[in-house]
Amino acid sequence: MTTCNCLTKTPEPRFHKKDCPVYMQDLLYKTIYYQEANKLFDRAIKAWGVETQLDMLQEECAELIQAISKKKRGYKNGDQQIAEEIADVEILTAQIKRMYSLNDDVEDVKTHKLHRLRLRLEDAENGNCSVLFGEPKKKENSK
Ligand SMILES: [Mg+2]
Ligand SMILES: [Zn+2]
Repeated sequence: MTTCNCLTKTPEPRFHKKDCPVYMQDLLYKTIYYQEANKLFDRAIKAWGVETQLDMLQEECAELIQAISKKKRGYKNGDQQIAEEIADVEILTAQIKRMYSLNDDVEDVKTHKLHRLRLRLEDAENGNCSVLFGEPKKKENSK
């Protein structure tokens, strides 16, 4: 058991100070975990090839869509099924990103889209647009 020395009263390691053993231990585990995961992804691509892994991603996306439908229709364990299919999709998208060296591109686009989401939410929370649809729309009565 790693002992905290920064007196951060939270079980979440990422909120501890960067020189706290709790933070450093967690970082180490995550680094090893990602290195191991990447080795597995490379082996999967080598074993089955690009085309097959793309087919797999299509199938897993379809399974996720199906799991969402079932959840909406009140199936038992709906949340657990969605969690499983999200995990499958994430494992396959990670492989596709490695196959096509898309990691930096995806992160760039995500940064851009998260920024846009923040702006849209600020508008929506001020009553200036719909959160769900299209471009921000000005309130009808605002001149
Ligand atoms: Mg699946
Ligand atoms: Zn700490």
